[in-house]
Amino acid sequence: MATYEDTTTHPFGIEALDFEGIHDRIRTLGYPSFRAKQLIQWVYQKQVESYDQMTNLPAKMREELARVLPLDIPQVSDRQVSKDGSRKYVLTLADGCQVETVGIPSHDSGADGESRRLTVCFSTQVGCPMQCAFCATGHEGLTRNLLPGEMLQQILTVQRDFNARVSNVVAMGQGEPFLNYDNFIKALKMINAKEGLGIGARHITVSSCGILDGIRRFGLEEEQYTLAISLHSARQDIRDAIMPRCKNMPLTLLKDTLREYYRNAKRRVSFEYLMIDGVNDADEDLIALIRFCKGLHVHINLIPLNDIDDSPWKPSASRTLAHWIDSLNAAGIETTLRNSRGSDIAGACGQLKNKQRSRI
Ligand code: SAH
Repeated sequence: MATYEDTTTHPFGIEALDFEGIHDRIRTLGYPSFRAKQLIQWVYQKQVESYDQMTNLPAKMREELARVLPLDIPQVSDRQVSKDGSRKYVLTLADGCQVETVGIPSHDSGADGESRRLTVCFSTQVGCPMQCAFCATGHEGLTRNLLPGEMLQQILTVQRDFNARVSNVVAMGQGEPFLNYDNFIKALKMINAKEGLGIGARHITVSSCGILDGIRRFGLEEEQYTLAISLHSARQDIRDAIMPRCKNMPLTLLKDTLREYYRNAKRRVSFEYLMIDGVNDADEDLIALIRFCKGLHVHINLIPLNDIDDSPWKPSASRTLAHWIDSLNAAGIETTLRNSRGSDIAGACGQLKNKQRSRI
């Protein structure tokens, strides 16, 4: 399979374009702008899978578009359902690359009664270049960046399969979103836009391993997206060992950048902290984490390590988790435990892979 360092040079179809790009393209083909609006509505709201279904577009236009701007819908090559109700999809893209996406249904009972949620965890790259030691995606390297429409089609696939509206999205699948910043931001804007998926910015969460330049740029975006940072250790030597590709973005600079982010965005950040037995869960690690959080507006999500193939590591003991939650809360740092969903179908955090595995 070919690898594409720069996807913009590859002649993909409509998935390469955001809404502005679709408007420009339709204009240069000589059609009035309401045709672009109709096209966007068919693809992203009515979720059709071919130009033939766009019945209010002239037949000649449909033929031309199918030729010059193919509508590539990813194929569901595998679908697994977890006992907790979440579903994992292996999607095959137009060039044969595969990515994984997870749909996670949940019930919330709050002050205003019961509400149903459907969250999609979507991928932003085919593979990932970051090589974090605990993550299955990182072990496989980067194949290419995903295009904006390829990110939205993951969400549409889940919407179709559950026959329900997606209420929340998290960019926590394969890939490092801030290393594909331009395509990724285009996708978020399309997910958020009324003429797109209409998902409120507060229901859109982005997770990054801490790409400094990306955090800075993200703090200047006007939408109120939520940012989560994969911290995993507040001790430089340990973080360097488990997240080797983050070495050139040291914790001191990360902290400065998060302060700057808060000044610009006025939004609290979440830290994801993977709890790995004997690696980053000693009292020394806890003290370093509390010190690192001083002066930052943060919320901490502790995540017990999910199992991946060939890993020597185990999740921390439950009493260690309880001790950390109590200590962090006592230090005034709001802390919750994240229960990963879908681990029985290898659909939980860190378990997503590039390639379809053989199933027993
Ligand atoms: N590249 C981005 C987003 C993808 S990973 C990032 O690094 O944040 C989403 C989350 O799953 C990250 O916090 C990641 O560190 C975590 N994760 C990776 N491997 C894991 C594992 N084996 N168990 C639990 N969480 C894991």
